[in-house]
Amino acid sequence: MVSGNIKEQIDTLVNLQKIEMETINIKSTLNNVSKKIGTLDNELKEFEQKIEDKEAMIVEMKKNYRDRESDFQMNLDREKKIQVKLRSVKTNKEYQSLLKEIEDVRVRNSKVEDEMIECLDNMDEAEKEVVSKKDEYLHVSARIISEKKDIMKAAEQGKERLAELENDWESVSGKIDSGLLKTYDLIKERNKGRLAVVPVKDAVCHGCNVNLPPQLYNELYRGDTLKFCPNCQRIIYWEGS
Ligand SMILES: [Zn+2]
Repeated sequence: MVSGNIKEQIDTLVNLQKIEMETINIKSTLNNVSKKIGTLDNELKEFEQKIEDKEAMIVEMKKNYRDRESDFQMNLDREKKIQVKLRSVKTNKEYQSLLKEIEDVRVRNSKVEDEMIECLDNMDEAEKEVVSKKDEYLHVSARIISEKKDIMKAAEQGKERLAELENDWESVSGKIDSGLLKTYDLIKERNKGRLAVVPVKDAVCHGCNVNLPPQLYNELYRGDTLKFCPNCQRIIYWEGS
């Protein structure tokens, strides 16, 4: 296999791996762009819906209030009619009975009046809530617009960076021995997206965290042949102690 300038080859391979990892990261970010935008759009829509629901509630409350108002008027009219009748009664019994009727109508209307006041209070509160929600909406929508802008800008930059990385990949991979590149690809395939070339620090493989035998560690330090981790079988390189 590769010999001689093996250290240089490994450095180049590590460089290639960096390029590939960054490419994977950017592609995954780009894949998430439409999902992120969708989430933000939904957030805004949900906020709008809350305001609309509150406004629909106010319409309902107003209708409720008008119904009470007409009940109130009806009771007043009824009372007036009884008052008229009262002027032409003949007997005391009749008189007492009409007075009782007036009293009943007044009790009923006082209840209606209480309900109307409660209705007005609730309407007032709901209207205040709508005003404050609308105010909040301005902030939320401004934030969402700016977040969407940032996402689109990052996506644009990501695409530009991808094009750069593609060029880098071409030139860097061209410097690597084809046999080594093939080995690297095989290990990469086996490790599914994880690093294929890993550093060894203090005799520990940073791919699998297992200690290397001293003999292998010494050979790795010399750096004149390609070495693999005996545990995870990835390409290893010495990176200080
Ligand atoms: Zn390992």
